[in-house]
Amino acid sequence: MSFIVAIDGPAGSGKGTIASRVAKKFDLFYLDTGAMYRCVTLKLIKDNIDFTDTKKIKKALEDIKIDFKKVDGEEKVFLDDEDVTKTIREEKVAKNVSQVSHIPEVRIAMVDLQRKICSKRDSVLEGRDIGTNVFPDASIKIYLDASVDERVRRRVKQNKKNGIEMSEEDIRENIIFRDKNDKESEIAPLKQADDAIYVDTTKYPTRINVNRVAKLVKKARKKYNRMQNAYIMTEETTIKKVKRKIVKCFLAGLYHIAFRVKRKGVENIKSDEGIIICANHLNYLDAAGIVLLNKRPITFVAKNDLYRIRSLSWLAHLFNIIPVKRNSSDVASLKLCLKALKNKEALGIFPEGTRNGMKKNAEVKNGAAFLAYKSKSKIVPVGVKGTFKPFSKVIFNYGEPIDVNKFKSDNPDWMNDATNYIMDRIRELSK
Ligand code: C5P
Repeated sequence: MSFIVAIDGPAGSGKGTIASRVAKKFDLFYLDTGAMYRCVTLKLIKDNIDFTDTKKIKKALEDIKIDFKKVDGEEKVFLDDEDVTKTIREEKVAKNVSQVSHIPEVRIAMVDLQRKICSKRDSVLEGRDIGTNVFPDASIKIYLDASVDERVRRRVKQNKKNGIEMSEEDIRENIIFRDKNDKESEIAPLKQADDAIYVDTTKYPTRINVNRVAKLVKKARKKYNRMQNAYIMTEETTIKKVKRKIVKCFLAGLYHIAFRVKRKGVENIKSDEGIIICANHLNYLDAAGIVLLNKRPITFVAKNDLYRIRSLSWLAHLFNIIPVKRNSSDVASLKLCLKALKNKEALGIFPEGTRNGMKKNAEVKNGAAFLAYKSKSKIVPVGVKGTFKPFSKVIFNYGEPIDVNKFKSDNPDWMNDATNYIMDRIRELSK
């Protein structure tokens, strides 16, 4: 997915100015979704379409043409090729846009269009439901807010600048009315997404508010870049190999100091072929024990969050950890796993997917069996035992390689049988 900055908040919270300046600063595409709803409202008013006439609204949405273009360095909004930048801010639109934007057909069409416009380009979108509805997986979500008095003051100033006539009283009434309508709407109401960062813009001048948001976006951009790079396994240069050897030696030493380690059946992973090591997952340190204490390099598959944290991301790169998105089928990481197996590497996977998954009855997926079948590799089951308390005993029990092909049959569920067998072996080995 592209880099998406989702900025939501009520009217006058500073979304427009902040979003467009941040977009400029980071060279991102800027989409004012409120302007899109305003365009639809203007079109319905112009064409005399009743807001309850679903049939005519649908037709109008099919024909509508909304464009954002820069003219003489200024952002302009075009509705059916006409410059409506000023008209969509006028009272007749302001009074009706909230109602129009909550017509289901309008919302569906606009959300669809917003996703289409931005899903392939790095963008800043501002609106009411970007983080909660349009892009719930946005790279960063920001919820801007300000007091009603401050928001009225800003609108009065903005209208004056744009030559729009509307009394302060009408502006206040309109803002309060839209707040209520937007927040209480049944479809996509205005609310802060659980993972959005709340920024109150009331007390600060625009310049400072832009900087505050830009700082957050800069950090998110770095995180995003790290995640993107995670999918490109970094080249195995000599420097990287030497670095890995030193770090591995050092950490393995620490591991031996921290725990009394016992390993059995290690010969089972000493082949020149690609193999998949499948272990039970008790603690983050079990993966470390498998990677650090074996001479053979092991490429682990781990959740992509690892790449979000800078210090861990460095280690993840060094040890070629393959990131996988949680709760979704991640084709990119499957491809990387197959590539690693084709290169005759040892791949480490926790089939439980989460720590203590077997105890929690977590659903075990067929990923390991699928990879083994596709790459013609064997699976080495590993049972890990221990509490991982300092100086306690930790046991790694490596079992005999399993050939999943022996489960292959006409039964479409044969892979489940292979997975169940692998899990049974891991259970036995970790007893
Ligand atoms: O941001 P602006 O004030 O131009 O938005 C106009 C109206 O469009 C809002 O009051 C809201 O009713 C609607 N809107 C929306 N969802 C968005 C953006 C705007 O419902 N994402």
